Amino acid sequence: MACADEIAAVEFMEARRWGDTPCCPRCGDTNVYQMRDRVTNERNKRFLWRCRGCKKQYTVRVGTVYEDSPIPMRHWCLAFWLACSSKKGVSAKQIQRQTGLSYKSALFMMHRIRWAMTPDDQNPPRKLTGTVEADETYVGGKPRAADRAKDRNAYRWWKRERKTIVAAVVERGGEVRATTIPRVTTKNVSPFLREHVETGVRLMTDEHMSYSGPGFQLKVTQHGRVTHGRGEYVRGDIHTNTIEGFFGNFKRKLHGTHHAVSKKHLMRYVNEAVFIYNTRDVDDGARVEKAITGANGKRLFYKEPVGG
Ligand SMILES: [Zn+2]
Repeated sequence: MACADEIAAVEFMEARRWGDTPCCPRCGDTNVYQMRDRVTNERNKRFLWRCRGCKKQYTVRVGTVYEDSPIPMRHWCLAFWLACSSKKGVSAKQIQRQTGLSYKSALFMMHRIRWAMTPDDQNPPRKLTGTVEADETYVGGKPRAADRAKDRNAYRWWKRERKTIVAAVVERGGEVRATTIPRVTTKNVSPFLREHVETGVRLMTDEHMSYSGPGFQLKVTQHGRVTHGRGEYVRGDIHTNTIEGFFGNFKRKLHGTHHAVSKKHLMRYVNEAVFIYNTRDVDDGARVEKAITGANGKRLFYKEPVGG
């Protein structure tokens, strides 16, 4: 496949980015050409292009998440492919083994790919309609069973301080949106839902107070609630099974593949899970294409991650 050697990988990325009309990432001019070795007529070793409009040289990396990285494009290519095609997700460890890069470089690359998968202000995601389910979940391991049994208050403290809360809303048969929040309160939940959900939907939640009452401003035609506290999970088509399925899948991947994810980086993994869920109906090739397209124009807004 495309990752076989460096030139194949570069040309694969160029085709994903520009299609049949290569253009200058700086000025947009299409009067551009590939620079070639004068003697051999092979492509320039750095795969440079030159723009006749602004007279500058550039590569396919300019203005993307790989711009300031020395990592060969064939590794990017492989990492995009694995991140988009493996059902269990791919860990930085696995990328490290397959590419020979350092763990730090592999992790850097995976975080940037997660960033490419994240919608930005230029392509804001559409609002959800129809019937939507909203819920939240706690992420971040468990204290040891022995400690838990010894002290219930300690466990409550642990849950509050050590776990991260992921809030999500899903359109049945459609897409999901998710974010991390510091506490489950109306103040945190309500703006998140208003940002991602059209007015006039049917909303499904559990009995949690944060989804109603003063300050909860989402205008809905119906609010169906199941009372999990009383063991009620389904009443007709009133349930939150779709969103719980998303959470279950996310946690299995997080714990099975990535093991320990710090609070600081959790949002990246949430973004990846959202991307994979929202592209579940397309084939692997189309998913790779969509992720790579998302790599364009992301450079300027990105802060470099350090550590894991
Ligand atoms: Zn130019």
